[in-house]
Amino acid sequence: MVNLVSQYEKIQTEVDQKILEVVRSSQYINGPEVKSFSEELSRFLGVKHVIPCANGTDALQIAMMALGLKPGDEVITASFTYIATVEVIGLLGLVPVLVEVDSETFNLDVNAFEAAITEKTKAVVPVHLYGQCANMEEILRVAKKHDLKVIEDAAQAIDATYTFSNGDAVKAGCMGDVGTTSFFPSKNLGCYGDGGAVFTNNDELAISIRQIANHGQTVRYHHENIGVNSRLDSLQAAVLRIKLGHLKEYTEARQFAAAYYDEAFKNETGLLTPKRDAKSSHVFHQYTIKTNGIDRNEMQNFLASKNVPSMIYYPIPVHKQKAYMDERYDAVDFSSTDALCENVISLPMQTELSEIQLEYIVSKVKEFLNK
Ligand SMILES: *Cc1c(COP(=O)(O)O)cnc(C)c1O
Repeated sequence: MVNLVSQYEKIQTEVDQKILEVVRSSQYINGPEVKSFSEELSRFLGVKHVIPCANGTDALQIAMMALGLKPGDEVITASFTYIATVEVIGLLGLVPVLVEVDSETFNLDVNAFEAAITEKTKAVVPVHLYGQCANMEEILRVAKKHDLKVIEDAAQAIDATYTFSNGDAVKAGCMGDVGTTSFFPSKNLGCYGDGGAVFTNNDELAISIRQIANHGQTVRYHHENIGVNSRLDSLQAAVLRIKLGHLKEYTEARQFAAAYYDEAFKNETGLLTPKRDAKSSHVFHQYTIKTNGIDRNEMQNFLASKNVPSMIYYPIPVHKQKAYMDERYDAVDFSSTDALCENVISLPMQTELSEIQLEYIVSKVKEFLNK
């Protein structure tokens, strides 16, 4: 699905040298690389504050802690997402309220979101799934109307741009009260281990976020809040600084592959290519199609037999996971989410796909569809 070795080989000289430099500097934690990376990413995204942390799951947790959400507060998010989004809500004693997604964009269904709001609802977490922004214009409007905090899970969508009706173009993760991302190796901006970050334009919130990520202290040994220990290390920051310099071309490489797939499959009735939201660019963390009247298992097995990897993100929705089942969902319509779990399949997507590889993948998919 991903080829991190070929990507590394292209920047090897630079990376190897930089890693040695960091090792020799002995500033492994909170060194200058971390500070420079934060500043560079903040400039790249056009957001005031980038607070690095240990991973994308921590980023979500720290964001929710900094917003002062209290046990019992309800937090609405999509049932069709990676578990980390929901996990931290539960971990903090908040109540996750899962809702339906749009069957075309795979993102939070705004009507379902609004219908799920109660007196206890305090926040919403739109996930920009697969690399395309959720319907932020509407989500922000509804959230404002009900005085809810907005935490964007941008783990899959770094560098995606959302354009509002008034023409404002804003990067994923920089539209809500706070945004979070992950630098897990296979993410669009990935390091060589774990990493994450929290984004905000709110100065006060930035202080809180920094404090919580650092044991609740701003001044050493003065703990004003209960915090956590969540740091990005200098080696990862050094790698990320180099890769940030290539993020534009990485995004373009993903978009090229996606356009190739789109064109190749446009007349196939056995599958539906991913729909583009006119307001959001798509950075294709995943290229995810929907099967249409064909056997997905059979397709996956056929592709595997031809050495074409494919993955199902995600086979089971969160509302059907044992840890998150709740009677409240008995009366909720999850038909789109349930159908997606049965029909989606993701094809290889990464920055180093050659036209020869794309041609091969496409030919095998077509061979299966027209068997
Ligand atoms: C990867 C991911 C996370 C978690 O990131 P980690 O760095 O693995 O903790 C959270 N949300 C979504 C949507 C993700 O894809």
